[in-house]
Amino acid sequence: MEKYKCAICNKEDKLNRSNNPEPLLEYHERVCIVCNHYVTATRIYQITKAGNSASKAQFANDLVNVIRLAYSLREAHLASMALFQEEEE
Ligand SMILES: [Zn+2]
Repeated sequence: MEKYKCAICNKEDKLNRSNNPEPLLEYHERVCIVCNHYVTATRIYQITKAGNSASKAQFANDLVNVIRLAYSLREAHLASMALFQEEEE
């Protein structure tokens, strides 16, 4: 099975579990399922804001909201993975 290294956290995994990181990174890069939440949050930001922040302060605020969203998605994912692991044990 072909492997890849996540372009964000450097974790190695099977290639068929990798994700397209656009627009955060180039298409030829790959990211893991956990780091893909940063990609999802960035895509949501693009759809809702299209990068048209009115000021540097607004841009910083928008960026913090993207990071908060990505963090929430990641934490929910990790919590559900831990729950599944508990059920398997
Ligand atoms: Zn990763």
